Amino acid sequence: MRMRIKVDRSVCAGHALCAAREPLVYLLDADGYCNSDGVLVPSGLEEQARRGAMVCPEAAITLWDEASSDS
Ligand code: SF4
Repeated sequence: MRMRIKVDRSVCAGHALCAAREPLVYLLDADGYCNSDGVLVPSGLEEQARRGAMVCPEAAITLWDEASSDS
């Protein structure tokens, strides 16, 4: 089962806490906003993805079960 990251760019405020907490999962663009929208979480880093989403103060990050989103 694969997990995909969804970032609501309309509410992402560029705090960069996601990338600071879990730099193997979350990347930032040149302006410091999360640039991981639509990215598949690398296998084995699912828990790190959850932790990074939890520290976002804007609740901008949602994690999708790829299997359920494909059906
Ligand atoms: S912590 Fe949240 S608001 Fe900050 S860059 Fe990451 S997704 Fe955007």
